[in-house]
Amino acid sequence: MNYDRLREEMVREQLIPRGIEDERVLVSFRKVKREVFVPAELREDAYGDFPLSIGEGQTISQPYMVALMTQCLELTGNEKVLEIGTGSGYQTAILAELSKQVYSIERIRTLARRAEEILEKLNYTNIKILVGDGTLGWKEFSPYDRILVTAAAEEIPSPAMDQLKEKGIMVIPVGSIYSQDLKVIKKEKGRPKVKTVERCVFVPLIGKYGWDESVRGE
Ligand code: SAM
Repeated sequence: MNYDRLREEMVREQLIPRGIEDERVLVSFRKVKREVFVPAELREDAYGDFPLSIGEGQTISQPYMVALMTQCLELTGNEKVLEIGTGSGYQTAILAELSKQVYSIERIRTLARRAEEILEKLNYTNIKILVGDGTLGWKEFSPYDRILVTAAAEEIPSPAMDQLKEKGIMVIPVGSIYSQDLKVIKKEKGRPKVKTVERCVFVPLIGKYGWDESVRGE
C-alpha cells in the first residue's frame, strides 16, 4: 500500500473540494500518518471517505469531518486546546501540529492508553491525556483558547463553556444520538455566540453533562 499517495489523494479529493482551505490544516493532513492510528486489520481503509471502527464501539471520524472541525478552530499555533474524546489519537496529533499544547480526555482507558502510546512513539511532546469524564472539562489547566468535543452532545456541557477563555472557540456536535449539527461557539462577553456549520453523526458523549451510559446499552 502506498500510504503517502493515498494521503495526498485524501487531501486533493476529500478535503480541498469540500472547502478545507486553511493552508496550515492542509499541511498537517499531508503530514500526519492516519494509517498509524487505525487498527491493523483496517489499515488499508485508513484514507477512505468514512469513519472506521477503533474498537470499544468507538470510531475514528471521517477525514473531512476531522479537517472541518480543525479548520473551525482557527488555530494559529499559540493556543492551549482541550479535546474531549481522544479516540484513536489521530485528531489529537493534528491539533498538536497546529497549536501550542493539547489536553485530551478519553473516558475509555484502553483507547486512551493506545492513543498515548502511538503519540509518544511519534515524539509529540505537547500532548497530555487524561482518562475520565470529559464533560467535566479539565479544570487544572483551564481556561482554554479552544475546546473541541469529538462526540455528540445533547447540550453544550456547562463546565466546558466555563473553562473556555473569553473570545475562545468551541467546536461541538449538538443534537440527538442519531444526528447532530456541528456548532462553532465563540465566547463573547461571557456568552456563547453560536453558528451551525454542517450536519453530522457522532458517537454519543457519555458523562455527567452528557448522555447516560444506557444510550449505548453499556
Ligand atoms: N477524534 C477521534 C479520532 O480522531 O479518533 C475520534 C473520537 S470518537 C468519534 C469519540 C470519542 O469520545 C470516543 O473515543 C468516546 O469514547 C469518547 N467519549 C465519549 N464520551 C466521553 C466523555 N464524557 N469524556 C471523554 N471521552 C468521551
